[in-house]
Amino acid sequence: MKPAKFEHQRMASLDEAVKALGNAEGETRVLGGGQSLGPMMNLRLAQPDVVLDLSKVEGLDGIEETGNAIRVGARVSHARIEDGEVPGKTGDYMQFVATGISYRSVRNRGTIGGSVAHADPSADWPSALLALGGSVTAAGGNGIRTISLDGFTVGPFSTGLGWDEILTGFELPVLGTDANWGYYKVNRKPGEFADAIGAVTLGVEARAVCGATESAPFRVTEIEERLASGVQEVSIAEVRDILDRYDAGFDDYELQIHAVALSRAVQGAFA
Ligand SMILES: Cc1cc2nc3c(=O)[nH]c(=O)nc-3n(C[C@H](O)[C@H](O)[C@H](O)COP(=O)(O)OP(=O)(O)OC[C@H]3O[C@@H](n4cnc5c(N)ncnc54)[C@H](O)[C@@H]3O)c2cc1C
Repeated sequence: MKPAKFEHQRMASLDEAVKALGNAEGETRVLGGGQSLGPMMNLRLAQPDVVLDLSKVEGLDGIEETGNAIRVGARVSHARIEDGEVPGKTGDYMQFVATGISYRSVRNRGTIGGSVAHADPSADWPSALLALGGSVTAAGGNGIRTISLDGFTVGPFSTGLGWDEILTGFELPVLGTDANWGYYKVNRKPGEFADAIGAVTLGVEARAVCGATESAPFRVTEIEERLASGVQEVSIAEVRDILDRYDAGFDDYELQIHAVALSRAVQGAFA
């Protein structure tokens, strides 16, 4: 299928894009890499009147280490992360995650900002970045805002971004050289969207995330407390018991695959 008729506007600057979004009449969408918006428009699941193309906007594609944070611009592609452009241990973790996203042609165009703004429950970055911690930066009518990654994904295709805001990038923690991380994605074949995600990082604090749920990914505090106390292994049965106490709406199969994912993520962190 072809998309419904829409107007494509190439933005020259972030200011112009923010103004265009704020003054928009009719449904207006920002275009990142187009790897989710494109298919949705072709299937007519999305029928925006106007698409604001950010591809020529400067300042959204940087990767920079600044003291205890790494700044990653919203338009940084999965492929650049796969190619190791994010430095250090944080980069190692993100490289592993990026490599598991679809195939190279999707990774060449798809962006980390687009993925997090889109908030597909099965996508990798919303879960992976929640396990890393840090914040999202957004620009809107009221200026620039920093929003914690904790709670940023609110539910399926729903985030803390305001209707007039553009996600501009991320400030992510620098994992120390001795920090551990583990990421495990259950999917039917390599590169597909996830049926379950387990993500663990032990940097400044221990963070453990259950992702690819029917809604937003969530942190599993009991596992974080165990990891913080030095535990290096949590069995599938134990994770299952813990996850069963969350109101995640899992049926028996989903509970099992999410327990497997998180248990293996912990295992991966200490392998
Ligand atoms: C065949 C295929 C397989 C895939 N497999 C996976 C997978 O295994 N794992 C995975 O995680 N993803 C997967 N994806 C999705 C892919 O990673 C997308 O690139 C990503 O989800 C969206 O990023 P994008 O830059 O293409 O955003 P777009 O498609 O351009 O936009 C998606 C949505 O986000 C909004 N948006 C984009 N950028 C911004 C911004 N800066 N500020 C505010 N809103 C913005 C758009 O308005 C739109 O609503 C797959 C895609 C395809 C086509």
